[in-house]
Amino acid sequence: MGELRGFLKVERKTTEPRPVCLRLKDFREVASLATCEHSQEQASRCMDCGTPFCHWGCPIGNYIPEWNDLVFRGHWQRALQLLTATNNFPEITGRICPALCEYSCVLGINDDPVTIRENELAIIEYAFQKGLLKPQPPKKRTGKQIAIVGSGPAGLSLADQLNKAGHLVVVFEKADKIGGILRYGIPDFKLEKWVLERRINLLKKEGIVFNTSVCVGKELKAKYLKKEFDAICLAKGCGVPRDLNIEGRGLSGIHFAMDYLIQANKKVNQELIPFDKLIDAKGKRVVVIGGGDTGADCVGVAHRQGAKCVVQIELLAKPPECRTPDYPWPKYPLLCKTSTSHEEGGIREWLVSTKKFSGENGRVQKLFCQRVIQEAADRKFEIEADLVILALGFLFPRKEGLLEELHLELDRNGNIKTSPNFMTSQKGIFSCGDMRRGQSLIVWAISEGRQAAHCIDKYLIGESNLPMI
Ligand SMILES: Cc1cc2nc3c(=O)[nH]c(=O)nc-3n(C[C@H](O)[C@H](O)[C@H](O)COP(=O)(O)OP(=O)(O)OC[C@H]3O[C@@H](n4cnc5c(N)ncnc54)[C@H](O)[C@@H]3O)c2cc1C
Ligand code: SF4
Repeated sequence: MGELRGFLKVERKTTEPRPVCLRLKDFREVASLATCEHSQEQASRCMDCGTPFCHWGCPIGNYIPEWNDLVFRGHWQRALQLLTATNNFPEITGRICPALCEYSCVLGINDDPVTIRENELAIIEYAFQKGLLKPQPPKKRTGKQIAIVGSGPAGLSLADQLNKAGHLVVVFEKADKIGGILRYGIPDFKLEKWVLERRINLLKKEGIVFNTSVCVGKELKAKYLKKEFDAICLAKGCGVPRDLNIEGRGLSGIHFAMDYLIQANKKVNQELIPFDKLIDAKGKRVVVIGGGDTGADCVGVAHRQGAKCVVQIELLAKPPECRTPDYPWPKYPLLCKTSTSHEEGGIREWLVSTKKFSGENGRVQKLFCQRVIQEAADRKFEIEADLVILALGFLFPRKEGLLEELHLELDRNGNIKTSPNFMTSQKGIFSCGDMRRGQSLIVWAISEGRQAAHCIDKYLIGESNLPMI
């Protein structure tokens, strides 16, 4: 806990994001870092609640009340030790986790919850600034070698844990850079890429080997990995986007969200995109179909690229602004989220179904839509658009290549089926992250990686000192 009755004296106060007029001019992070004094004061609000449901709400079981107390008292190094005992990448979750924990904070029952996510970020950034995080390669190597396919948060947390256990870990990544969606999906205004580089440099110094631009199943066959490695873990993500197969889908100017976001991230990183492949919102009327977080990221990118106007439409009804009886505390509630991208402009519409695209000279110009409510008098309407982004979520992992070669069993959603020890239908081949769980969150990917590491370690050695989460 923090200060006894601190919550009675101090109000919840989050850090101020950069002003909209400034942040729209660049792709730099919207959020700003808290000062130590601010974090100490906010941590003091953590009360002696007895049963900390925040710990239950966090998928990696972060020791939240304990490190809040240490922050309040200014014991930053000890707070760091506790934080890194359960979380491999607090600098990432501290920036972009939806903070499931804060919805189950006991203080949140009748007051504003503790700023847990910001306190988490404050600890890890303090540690980086003070040089407290040094590479810690394992003292002894076990002689076992593990191949990890995919370098998103699941593959990276898995690699970190297995390396700590002394195994030699080689990560294969088909993209030219490490990080998965952290690198090429999530825009810099949520997560600047130096944050990722800083962590990858540490992992490299600790002995993890990274091989980029290697698509396993294509350039490198799974047969080779099976021969050369003692265990393999697939953490390829959930890469197949949901499509909208309606009339006019073939027109140019209609793109999947990830194709748009990958390019946007590459451009921010000064990479050149061939002109005939370029997807850019400058001066365009943009429609984002899909009301979720990926759609929100596209809205933010489109505004920064200088879109003429941006409309985001969603098929489902607008979620409630506050908890409903279906989601009582301490459950993570389904709520209408206003992301920082929504604060920056654009129109949001719910209960809208897109029936048809039309265009001229092969390019999209219009969406024919219908409101999904019977009572509406003007149910049918049109939206003019020069660029349409499909942000309708993801279905399952890509099957071509690696999965075709391995013939692994799938679950009923088309994701990889594993037993409780994360092993697939083939002995020695494991899977974790979105590929196994389905489209999810970074903190769940880290949790999956940590659990899979424990199971792989046990499979190789017979027992494991790695925590199960
Ligand atoms: C646009 C977007 C924004 C998001 N924002 C947030 C957010 O703000 N907060 C949050 O908590 N979650 C967010 N998420 C969800 C989160 O990013 C994912 O749940 C998480 O990245 C899944 O991690 P993963 O490691 O399982 O897979 P991924 O991150 O998808 O990584 C998989 C990696 O495997 C590689 N790969 C695939 N096939 C092969 C192959 N054959 N050989 C070698 N490598 C291969 C891919 O190139 C990729 O790098 C977002 C998702 C998207 C799409
Ligand atoms: S990882 Fe997410 S859920 Fe866990 S403590 Fe941090 S912000 Fe909360």
